[in-house]
Amino acid sequence: MGEPRPTVEWQVAGACNYDCTYCIQSPRYRRGRPVREQLDQALTVFSGLPGKWEIKCSGGEAFAHPLFMEVVVPGLMDRTVHDISILTNFSASHADLMRFAHLTRGRLRVFSASLHLEFTRLEDFAQKASWFVDQLDGDVDFVVNQVVLPGRLDEVRACRDELEDRGLRWFAQWLKVKGRPVEYEGDIEGLVGERPANRSPSFQGRPCHAGHLYFTVDKDGTAWSCRTAKRTREGHLGNLLDGSLRLNTGPVPCPYDICPCTVPVNRGMVRGPVP
Ligand code: SF4
Ligand code: SF4
Repeated sequence: MGEPRPTVEWQVAGACNYDCTYCIQSPRYRRGRPVREQLDQALTVFSGLPGKWEIKCSGGEAFAHPLFMEVVVPGLMDRTVHDISILTNFSASHADLMRFAHLTRGRLRVFSASLHLEFTRLEDFAQKASWFVDQLDGDVDFVVNQVVLPGRLDEVRACRDELEDRGLRWFAQWLKVKGRPVEYEGDIEGLVGERPANRSPSFQGRPCHAGHLYFTVDKDGTAWSCRTAKRTREGHLGNLLDGSLRLNTGPVPCPYDICPCTVPVNRGMVRGPVP
């Protein structure tokens, strides 16, 4: 386990240009976009975070926010020292992707492109991904994510083979409902591997830097110490937009019986050996 890598997960848009049937965000919640002043205020808060953080932009769909390329990306690059990562459905135009690669050069850490077969064809996605990887510096972590749907394991395997044959990194996500992994029939281990972090493990009682060196920010600026803390409404850290953000001063014991999101664990927030 390495040192914690300070990370913010920022929902830069609620709205998405896709409407996947298995989306964990309900259509009622999957709407709305921060306006220019709200984005500006969030950028001001990020610029004041001590040291270098990774700002991971998610949604909804970040690129579908008209101000993402106009305000968010240039603002993070010009007004902060932080790195940027993104989770996207990869529907952005080639021109926007090219510009994004250019603007973030030297500061882009992880580009996660999610494959959603309800809205794109594998061949088109794979071609675009191969093209895009060539636009990026070699140290950018480009990964394709795909949620494994029950009863569709053969289809998922075909996607994995096509993408891996092109030399792309592919990662299967265990479908979770309310943070709990669903049951599959068939060789799910062969697809998602045996990493327990993919299956909502429990780190209850372990010191965790969530709320200190990691936090999430909703589209309305509300900050939470982690996703489970948000679900239970216990880990409220204030709001970026009214200046009330207050982070913990150190790690605290995890109070929850599941840790469904792999981001804090993968960035070293949970202390002690991680399975
Ligand atoms: S692309 Fe992602 S956020 Fe948009 S509907 Fe699909 S799963 Fe939900
Ligand atoms: S659920 Fe995970 S991220 Fe949240 S406090 Fe517990 S260990 Fe940390």
